[in-house]
Amino acid sequence: MSNPPRLSPQGLSHQEVLARMRELRTEDARWQEGRTWSLVYNAGEDVRRLLAEAYTEFMSENGLSPFAFPSLRRFESEVLAIAAELFHGEGVAGTMTSGGTESILMAVKTARDFARAERGITEPEMVMPASVHPAFQKAAHYFGVKAVNVPVGPDFRADVAAMRAALTPRTVLMVGSAPAYPQGVVDPISELAALAKERGLLFHVDACLGGFLLPFARKLGHAIPDFDFAVPGVTSLSADLHKYGYAAKGASLVLYRTPELRRYQFFTYADWSGGIYASPSMAGTRPGGAIAAAWAILKYLGEEGYLRLTGTVLDTAKALREGIAAIPGLKLLGEPRLSIFAFGSDTLDVYALGDAMEARGWKLDRQMMPPALHLMVTPAHAKVVEPFLADLRACAAGLASGEPAPEGSAAMYGMLGAMPDRAEAADFIRQFMDSLYE
Ligand SMILES: *Cc1c(COP(=O)(O)O)cnc(C)c1O
Repeated sequence: MSNPPRLSPQGLSHQEVLARMRELRTEDARWQEGRTWSLVYNAGEDVRRLLAEAYTEFMSENGLSPFAFPSLRRFESEVLAIAAELFHGEGVAGTMTSGGTESILMAVKTARDFARAERGITEPEMVMPASVHPAFQKAAHYFGVKAVNVPVGPDFRADVAAMRAALTPRTVLMVGSAPAYPQGVVDPISELAALAKERGLLFHVDACLGGFLLPFARKLGHAIPDFDFAVPGVTSLSADLHKYGYAAKGASLVLYRTPELRRYQFFTYADWSGGIYASPSMAGTRPGGAIAAAWAILKYLGEEGYLRLTGTVLDTAKALREGIAAIPGLKLLGEPRLSIFAFGSDTLDVYALGDAMEARGWKLDRQMMPPALHLMVTPAHAKVVEPFLADLRACAAGLASGEPAPEGSAAMYGMLGAMPDRAEAADFIRQFMDSLYE
């Protein structure tokens, strides 16, 4: 056993530190080669280089104080103005955040505080399709809002009638996704928003994933339903710059229909001996690098750049979907038309298929209910369509002919997916986390 890590009495040299870090990353996912299908949105080396420069340029600056760094305030307000225009939000107001989760946490907190102040609701509930991102469950957990998860329809989209039936006098917020992560389908935003409006409820569109994809997909001629502030009844929207905005990690935004609504997001404290404290979102210190890099990438790519990257992503995703649907035993879930989708099987163990693909160097996310494998397509995947499909074909054929899959995580996913007591499954995962972060 090696000694436990501790602060060494003497520091190492630049060279030694960097060499050690590079050594430690050799086991990391090889996203640069297009072998991973989640987590990294790779728009190419030119984008990566600009992000690195813009980020390091503002690495030390702190977005907490708009007075100390007018540059950051300027970047942030320009990013928000660009987003407001993309999402048809005249007069909307927002903030940048550290990621989709923080944007969603803020939207839920805002809805809770709005309802408490304006409607006297003290036991708030939010009604949402079961496919929404777990950040909403986290928000419910953190902020004491009851999460009412409504099963989706057979097409994996929100079931409007079931959502209607789930509303109560305590409902403070309804949610829809554009698109939802698991099957990549867009909820019926216009119908949901009309329902919210009819009942006088707030309605949040989670466009964390699709925010910087759908507007360009539409301009390219794809049939994209209205999903943003163009829809009456939409009162807030989240969109991640660090996904299809191709910004550096740590950049998302949340927008509200009015500045009055946004005010419920802000936190201020006027009684501190350390001075007046005002913070727009969850974070205290806000990394300047993330804000600066987001601004830089919007300027660098411009509409032309986003249209080009979106075109590549959508063409690549279509080729992958068609290739997968043509493989005996495999089927797409729902009717995904964008950049993200899942496939399952009635005859093959897809978790075993995931292990077989992993043995060939492909990392696919596993999903449950129903069991499926998941792909998030980025521009970097354009070059791997054929090799990926060839391996998938071979692995599926191998499994179909009774070949055993290599040892992997299939047993664990099978077990976790089948546990009838979901609280027990969640607890099992918590224990596993203890060992991961030991
Ligand atoms: C990624 C994602 C989120 C959460 O974003 P993070 O940046 O990972 O916190 C929320 N909603 C959807 C649909 C997403 O895809």
